[in-house]
Amino acid sequence: MVIKSALGPSPLEENLRYLTDVIGGRVSGSAAADRAVGWAVEAFRHAGVDEVLTEKFLIPVGWAEGQTHVEALAPEPFRVHLVSTGWSPPTAEGGITAEIVDVGNGDEAAFAKAGEAANAAIVLVHSKILVTWDDLINEYKIGPGIIARAQKAGAAAIFWMSSRPNLLLYRHTSSVDGKLEELPQAIVAREDAERIARFLASGQKVRVHLDMPNHVSTSAVESENVIAEIRGREKPDEFVLLGAHLDSWELGTGALDNGCNAVMVIDAARAIHASGGVPRRSIRFVLFTGEEQGMLGSWAYARAHRAELDRMAAAVIFDNGDGRVTGYSLGGRKDALPAVRQALEPVRQLGATEFTLDAGADTDNFDFLLEGVPTLVANQEPANYMLNYHAASDTFDKVDIAALKKEAAIAALTAYALADGEERIAPRQSRAEIEGLLNETGLEQEMKREGFWKLWENGDRGRSSE
Ligand SMILES: [Zn+2]
Repeated sequence: MVIKSALGPSPLEENLRYLTDVIGGRVSGSAAADRAVGWAVEAFRHAGVDEVLTEKFLIPVGWAEGQTHVEALAPEPFRVHLVSTGWSPPTAEGGITAEIVDVGNGDEAAFAKAGEAANAAIVLVHSKILVTWDDLINEYKIGPGIIARAQKAGAAAIFWMSSRPNLLLYRHTSSVDGKLEELPQAIVAREDAERIARFLASGQKVRVHLDMPNHVSTSAVESENVIAEIRGREKPDEFVLLGAHLDSWELGTGALDNGCNAVMVIDAARAIHASGGVPRRSIRFVLFTGEEQGMLGSWAYARAHRAELDRMAAAVIFDNGDGRVTGYSLGGRKDALPAVRQALEPVRQLGATEFTLDAGADTDNFDFLLEGVPTLVANQEPANYMLNYHAASDTFDKVDIAALKKEAAIAALTAYALADGEERIAPRQSRAEIEGLLNETGLEQEMKREGFWKLWENGDRGRSSE
């Protein structure tokens, strides 16, 4: 019944159109993100859930791009297309005039070769074209090291060569706690960045005037998560969380990342309600905000609900576009594998059959994993995700509605099966056990590279030892 309801006529397509076309890009802390929250509350009500509410949390600074402007002064004037990265500080009043220095892939050797020339310059970092999930993971992996080297070299700013062709621009941030980054940074259109690199390679100096008057709030800004619940019949205090993030970047309208999965989670609630089935435990359908600035919404949720995390059976997160769901990543929880396989037997028929044990600090399961709660993140084929990732082209027309309906069926069946099982799939881990998992999966190294580790060590994120 759940499958039939998910695949049949539904408000899913119209919901996605409204969220992306009418509300548009939804940067955490912006008016559009607030509108999306209000809209999602209503959409959940229509889905027939037992309860829906919002929970506020604070984002350290609000951010919006200003009138970014760059002018090539030498060797001659030419057009350069660029955008500020997210949560980049503004350039100094009136902008900066600087030479561009090519630092290749930005590794130690490249900065050593650039030497003194990088001081007070804008360093240009090359990239490879983004094609696979591994390429994307690598972009995030090498970013913080390059920024640190640029700072050490005394660079005035970083120009990142776009990893997408055809003048396509996108927005990222390396911030992991919603605070402003330290160095001004911009994404430069691939073709323009290559042209700059060719000038430099031919021995000509390239000098630009860069003005990035980004708007930064003077104090923290409020943001909200949306939480809807279908109450369980036997153990209503225990719950499975099915979640996706509602916020997005705003060059496009956040359709693949992650509007499609936000409306998918609402539709999974609708399909379960419509099926008439009531699971043993409760299901909480959560749309997080603040994901793009360091998973701030799910972090806030885990913190606010710490007292009931012993009763949280699992977190199931969707954040990989609309490509075919092949199964789930279990975030290193080997101990949960046999029980997950058994519980998700009904989902096999929809093609979600493979389980992986990788763990990453890249979406909203992260803080639940750090709290010892078993987590499942949908593994999906890339489809057209990479080209459009965080880009101006991430719009409604990129989403395959039939594929998204199938995803809703998988998500609904998964959440229902985990909530309805006689036993939970795995117990909550202690801090010592979590520590072992972070080490074993390599997540510890990733957290150290990306700046999460200090937050885990000082107790801001993750389970305490008591
Ligand atoms: Zn996302």
